[in-house]
Amino acid sequence: MPELPEVETVRRGLAPVMEGARILSVEQRRPDLRFPFPADFAGRLTGRRVDGLSRRAKYLLAHLDDGLTLISHLGMSGSWRIETDGPDGDSPGRFHHARSKNAAHDHVVFHLAPKTGTNARIVFNDPRRFGFMAFAEEGELAAHPLIGKLGAEPTGNRLDGALLATLFHNRRAPLKAALLDQRLIAGLGNIYVCEALWRAGLAPDRAAGSIVNKHGGATAACDRLAAAVRAVIADAIEAGGSSLRDYVHADGALGYFQHRFAVYDREGEPCVQPDCDSVVLRTVQSGRSTFYCPACQR
Ligand SMILES: [Zn+2]
Repeated sequence: MPELPEVETVRRGLAPVMEGARILSVEQRRPDLRFPFPADFAGRLTGRRVDGLSRRAKYLLAHLDDGLTLISHLGMSGSWRIETDGPDGDSPGRFHHARSKNAAHDHVVFHLAPKTGTNARIVFNDPRRFGFMAFAEEGELAAHPLIGKLGAEPTGNRLDGALLATLFHNRRAPLKAALLDQRLIAGLGNIYVCEALWRAGLAPDRAAGSIVNKHGGATAACDRLAAAVRAVIADAIEAGGSSLRDYVHADGALGYFQHRFAVYDREGEPCVQPDCDSVVLRTVQSGRSTFYCPACQR
């Protein structure tokens, strides 16, 4: 399943082509993906200019010149690709998102007239159809059912030790569960939570509130964990453009940065921390695998 760093990689790949481009027409080839498309989907997009492309958690947001926002989600297997008739052909720029190329799963095609260059087609492909698209009217985005209750972004400096202390104060849930709670921090998946906890040296089953001091303030552990979360996500985004292509699984599933994982999916292998002679263990929390080093993480 695409995680936040991949969605950000996709955004960065699409932005140079989509931002400032006029939507000439939209081919909607099915009535639904995971959910039905909004009423008059193609009609409301046709003729609009894309003023900006942003991201909130795992949602890609295309901001249109009439105030409407197109919200899209990749689901399990969704991907976007860029096609042009220019000399560069398919996928200009750093757009290496692993994807299905089976045209039978091309469900939406946006025909664009970019500010410069040749016309382009932006194609949404989704074999399993867990992706979806929705609209939010101007002013409605902040309170939108999909967006309104999302927690802090794990990118940028807003996520610091003080914010983690506020979020985790008096929380008895394990650190792993608290980090996966989308109402607290939005967009963190299983892989990056395992990696961040290892980097911070914190045990995944420890109560979230145990890293907060008794006055509800940040401890060194809060600072370490916030920095680790930001660094894990930033590293994955950094790697996204260049390494995803090497990790297309045989079944066409999206690849991840497996060669960079310290603990994720490394059960029984040596911990990569210098001076640590322990091996990575796997446990199951809330039905999902957690990978950790019992020596490094306390
Ligand atoms: Zn270790």
